[in-house]
Amino acid sequence: MSETVERHEFGAEVGRLLDLVVHALYSDREIFLRELVANAADATDRRRFEALTNEALALPSDAKVLIAPDKAARTLTISDAGIGMAKEDLAQNLGTIARSGTRAFSQALGEKAGEGEDLRPSLIGQFGVGFYSAFMVADRVTVTSRRAGTDEAWTWASDGKGSYTLEPAAREQAGTDIVLHMKDDADEYLESYRLDHVVRKWADNIAVPIAIRDEEG
Ligand code: ADP
Ligand code: MG
Repeated sequence: MSETVERHEFGAEVGRLLDLVVHALYSDREIFLRELVANAADATDRRRFEALTNEALALPSDAKVLIAPDKAARTLTISDAGIGMAKEDLAQNLGTIARSGTRAFSQALGEKAGEGEDLRPSLIGQFGVGFYSAFMVADRVTVTSRRAGTDEAWTWASDGKGSYTLEPAAREQAGTDIVLHMKDDADEYLESYRLDHVVRKWADNIAVPIAIRDEEG
């Protein structure tokens, strides 16, 4: 490992949540795409908002969420031109459960796990699952991000098994790339027609344009 790579442990709560999400939600796993597209759209909205008082942050005119499957590499990349994350943001937002929503979801799912009734759908609707849902379909996730208004980029990477790494990276423009290294049984999410179906089902009300790259075209 190069000396510029830092390794950090996840908090205990993150480990518990990852376990729940990956094991309890298997049959709902297509929602990972809703979660990641929603985050990309939120980040785009946030940059648009901050640009109201800071022209330097203005969004590129073609700002969109791009979903790009690569069958040869077995990766699915979700990119945005949003506000981006600085190093500390990556550690805080993706390394801890800073959000009360996720904590509530984790608790509710844990409590309901022992009961007969299947409450997963309502819990998913109520709280959202968040970024960690990426680990339902990916065995490794890398996030490369550059905060708008800065010229530094960082890569966060994890296999979702207890720790993550942070290292300096390069990115030409502000924004974020989430790269999912897909599990062997998640091939379907490398098919553009399948991605299209999920986006239409879950991401219909998202205001930012969403494009799916067609490998053949
Ligand atoms: P939520 O969206 O409910 O806050 P998530 O687990 O989905 O929770 O994401 C956690 C946090 O990570 C977000 O609040 C945001 O700060 C950050 N984040 C995730 N994806 C992105 C992205 N594409 N661009 C910028 N920040 C992001
Ligand atoms: Mg989210």
